[in-house]
Amino acid sequence: MTERQAELTTNRWSTLKRHFSNAFSGGAIQSRRSIDVASSSHAEERRRHAYRYILIALAVVLTPVDLHQFYLGHFLPAAVGFILLGVVFANIWQLGRAREALFSPTVILAMTLTVLLVSIYHGQTYTLYWVFPLLSLLPLVLEIRSALWLGLVSGILLLPILFLSFDTNTAIIICLSMTLTWVISAWLIYAVSVQSRRLRSMAETDPLTGAYNRRFFQLQAQMAFEQWQRNKRPASVLLVDVDHFKRVNDRRGHAAGDLALKNLVDLITSRVRKVDTLCRYGGEEFAVLLPETDAKGAVFVAEEIRAKVESSRLIESDTITISIGVCELVGVEDTDQWINLADAALYRAKKSGRNRVELATTTDATVQVASLEKELPEWR
Ligand code: GH3
Ligand code: MG
Ligand code: MG
Repeated sequence: MTERQAELTTNRWSTLKRHFSNAFSGGAIQSRRSIDVASSSHAEERRRHAYRYILIALAVVLTPVDLHQFYLGHFLPAAVGFILLGVVFANIWQLGRAREALFSPTVILAMTLTVLLVSIYHGQTYTLYWVFPLLSLLPLVLEIRSALWLGLVSGILLLPILFLSFDTNTAIIICLSMTLTWVISAWLIYAVSVQSRRLRSMAETDPLTGAYNRRFFQLQAQMAFEQWQRNKRPASVLLVDVDHFKRVNDRRGHAAGDLALKNLVDLITSRVRKVDTLCRYGGEEFAVLLPETDAKGAVFVAEEIRAKVESSRLIESDTITISIGVCELVGVEDTDQWINLADAALYRAKKSGRNRVELATTTDATVQVASLEKELPEWR
């Protein structure tokens, strides 16, 4: 095997390992690690909704099963089942009020498996049917470690009852089909999660620079605005526009212009925090959303970015500069006004000679926005 082939094999192996662990990560409900910080509160809400629906489905299945157990006079499994139902309903109620769940999916699934095992040990081997859908749920809702442990523990606990209640062949077939259910479910979840991550990334990012796109920015800005209304948590936005970018394209060609934009995105990304969102707002215009940042902090960051761009070589043997309009969220009526104010400040920065940072203020903004409406900015 040549060195290149060996390298390719190692890469394929590590990609496979990564995909496989992602497949079992149960990202939709349990894990928060894989969720991008910028969209965390959005993802958090989706996670809560998903968990609530799964619990409602579980309650719908469990209630008649439990009542049936009770009716048959199997009081022990019925009692364990009712405890589980109580826990499930408490969780549904809590999640419905947009609060954190009382019990994690691991606890709920462990309790559900216990109910099934109690029932099976109580002689109702038909309850085994319920183990199959539950096994397929494990990789969907749990992280790999919990899914593995729960699958393994329930499998080990089931083995004696399988071999005592059925003949060896049937027991082996049941064991195999359970393992298959688990593996196929994990594989399907892997395929769907990879696909949905790819689609999400395509819908949210700009293909040239890798920054988020304008649509994503608008969602984030709306969320920041709502948080400000609810909890008075500050946020600021920077609107960045490259100075005389047409000249760069004319002198150095479009490909060099593209490279400069990519370098600019790398540079801004290296300066801002993980919680900040950098988006390509238009051609050579970028917006940076800075949560928990007031005007003073935002101007400080903007000034640092401006100076860093000026001193770095975004394009070989040529200096590129940027102008930045800064606006804090305080006092704005909606996100459109917020962006307009930053836009007005950017316009002022351009007018005052470029390579500058300007802060929008609510009072001068009214004038700026009004004047913007009258004359079309030359840098558009
Ligand atoms: P100003 O300082 O007033 O902003 O001057 P400017 O030349 O940058 O003016 P303007 O913002 O109007 O020009 C934007 C230019 O950016 C026009 C367009 O050719 C170029 N541009 C927009 N998108 C891209 C892109 O994806 N790649 C490249 N290479 N150029 C782009
Ligand atoms: Mg420009
Ligand atoms: Mg522009």
